[in-house]
Parts: sequence; structure tokens; C-alpha cells
Amino acid sequence: MKQKGYPTVTVLGSTGSVGEQALDVARQTGAAVRALCANRNVRRVEEQAREFRTQACAMADERAAADLRVRLADTGVRVYAGTEGICEMLAASGGGDGVVLNAIIGEAGLRPTLAALEAGARLALANKESLVCAGEAVMALAAEKGIEILPVDSEHCAIFQCLRAGARGEIRRILLTASGGPFYGYTAEQLKEITVERALAHPTWRMGAKITVDSATLMNKGFEVIEAVHLFGVRPEQIEVLVHRESIMHSAVEYTDNSIIAQLSVPDMRLCVQYALTHPARAGAVIPQLDLTALGRLSFARPDTATFPLLRVALEAIAAGGAVPAVLNAANEVAVAAFLDRRLSFCGISELVEEAVSRLRASAAGVRSVPGILECDAQARELAEELLAKRA
Ligand code: NDP
Repeated sequence: MKQKGYPTVTVLGSTGSVGEQALDVARQTGAAVRALCANRNVRRVEEQAREFRTQACAMADERAAADLRVRLADTGVRVYAGTEGICEMLAASGGGDGVVLNAIIGEAGLRPTLAALEAGARLALANKESLVCAGEAVMALAAEKGIEILPVDSEHCAIFQCLRAGARGEIRRILLTASGGPFYGYTAEQLKEITVERALAHPTWRMGAKITVDSATLMNKGFEVIEAVHLFGVRPEQIEVLVHRESIMHSAVEYTDNSIIAQLSVPDMRLCVQYALTHPARAGAVIPQLDLTALGRLSFARPDTATFPLLRVALEAIAAGGAVPAVLNAANEVAVAAFLDRRLSFCGISELVEEAVSRLRASAAGVRSVPGILECDAQARELAEELLAKRA
């Protein structure tokens, strides 16, 4: 039955880990789903479109879109093709009272983020790469349109909630928690032996393959620092990364009076999706209750950036500014895909990313426009592929 207070939702990346959990929230709460998009997984999008009786769907892959059109021929569902088609679908839906949840993976989410904002829609953002690549442009467009971006990443959703306890000028620092990934405590020597299977076994979160590898290298935490800088208007030095193995405290804000406000729950992305949909209100739970006595204790430690260099590289990228974070992201996308394809070792990911960033830093640092950023992204991918080929 439809619960009160839920907007109509468009789910981008609906076949992925976050997308499926978003649809589960819609299933549990009766929230209406207006439109969906994915890349190639037509079979699953067809099932979702039928279950939620959506008005429209888009497939980034043109052949998949043609296939979906045939599969949904007996319905009134309009099918769009390509990234252009995703943006067209968002423009056609308009802003209204709906929420667009962007759970596309990677830089591919950037243009849909901009299109959703252009259309005037409230944007629930899981796709952190939009902010990593073009945070200034995304935040400027949101401000111009008077739209508050609703963070879905669990740490940023936590910070967003903690920020209700004080004014922006009262923030001393943000405590951004990190699980530390499956290889916390490993030495550089031990990391040489890491296989794809071991990298995909995250201790506390079930996520898509790319972000699971990013968590294991600490790249994900670097991206999250950049994401927080843009979302919350804080300086990078105001963010402290804390390793918290249990993934129960999802982040915290320390205020000028040294009071720390934290948000805790069981690790479940459905809470983050729900909060983005109901904000500023809260609704009936879609996740289990947290039993603190069953946990007994929570632990905190500093990250090891000597063994896991990508957090440091991310901090250097945001300090360099311009399109350097976009270069970092693009090189990382190529490196992680190569690792998952067994063409690059686990340690090779950070080596390749660091080299690509150091080679393109000077040329990318002054680039601020979205077309310029997309050009730097393409250059970084090309360079990363070349570096990969040399290593083979
Ligand atoms: P998944 O890999 O599980 O899913 C990715 C989704 O994006 C799929 O629906 C995929 O479609 C779609 N997709 C891929 N390429 C394109 C494209 N070019 N155009 C449109 N859609 C595309 O990713 P996750 O759900 O793990 O992550 C999604 C985003 O959320 C990422 O930015 C990640 O960093 C962020 N995030 C994820 C968390 C998690 O728990 N998983 C937690 C916090 C943030 P198809 O199936 O057809 O390939």
C-alpha cells in the first residue's frame, strides 16, 4: 500500500546494486516509479518496467534499447536509446514533484545528473563520480535551479542528517568513516597476492563490483572526500577519514563547541534511499533496527595511506583542482576494469592511476568547463590504456 510522503521516483541505474535497493524501497512503501534506465540488462529492465508500470525506460546501449522496444511493445512504455536518450527522457519528465535517483556507475552518470538538474528535478545522488568529475559545475547548476542535492552515498547521507544539528558556519570538521575494506591491516607485500575474488569480498557492504574494488584500494574514500567537499562546502582539511571496521557509524560532524553528532544504523543502503525520498521528514522503517548491545563495541583508527596510496592521490587531486579529479576517476575506471578482467594486478591499480594523474596534472588543473572536463576524461582513458598496454 502506498505510504504518505513518497514522491514519484525515476531510478537511473535500476539494475545495479543501489538501483535494485531503491526499487525495493519503492516496493515496500508503494512509491510510484515513473522511469528507469540501465546500460545493457534488458531482461531485468523489462521485468522492472512491468512490475512498476513505468511510463518510460532508457538503455544506454542502443542495441539493448532496440531489444527493449520489442519486448515492451505490448505496453505503452516509451523506450529511449543512448545517453542522449536518458537525458531526453529526463527532460520529458520535467521537474515536478518527482525525484530522480542517479545510481549509474562511473562518469557515465555525469550527463544524466546535469540533465536531471536542467529539468528542475530533485536529485538523489548515489553516482559520486558526477561530483568527483565536475563537482563545481554540478553544484553551480543545482544552485542556479534552486535544487538541494540529496546525498545517497551512506556517509554523505549520514553527514546530511548530522548537519541538521547545527549551522554551516558552526562545523569544525567532518569525520568520514571508512570500513577499511577487506585488506585492512595488510602489508604492501601481502597486497601483491590479491585476487579478483578476494577483492570482491567486502566485509560489511554488498555492492557493485567497481565500488567494491574502489573500497579495497581506498579510492572510494578519496572520491568520498571530494564528494563531501562539493556537497557540503567544506575545505578538504576539514575532513578526517576514520577507519571504522563495523560500518555502524556512517559518519559524524564535529561542531565548534567540540560536540560530535553521529548517525548510526545497520549498514543498509535502503535507509539512504528512503531518507533522500522523504527528507526532511522521516517515515516508517524499511531496514532492521540496530541492536547496540549485540555489537558491544565500536572501533576507530587512522587509515594507512602508505600501503593504500589512492586516498592520498585523491587529496592531491582535489588540491590541484580543475579537471584533475576527473583524470583520477577516468584512470581509475580503466584500471579497475582491467583488474576485474585480470589484465592488471591489485597493486597495479594504484600504480597506473598515480602515473596517469602525475602526467596529466599540469594540463588538467586549469580546466573548469564541462566540455573541457569530458576532454580530459577521454585523454586520461587513452593514456591509462597506453600505460596498461606497456605493462602487458
Ligand atoms: P552497479 O555496478 O551495481 O550498477 C550500475 C548500474 O549502472 C547498472 O544499472 C548498470 O546497468 C548501469 N549503467 C552502467 N553503465 C551505464 C551507462 N553508460 N548509462 C546508464 N546506466 C549505466 O553499481 P552500484 O549500484 O554499486 O553503484 C552505483 C553508484 O552508486 C556508483 O556511483 C557508486 O559509487 C554509488 N554507490 C554505491 C553503493 C553501493 O552500495 N553499491 C554505496 C554508495 C554509493 P547494466 O546492469 O545494464 O550494466
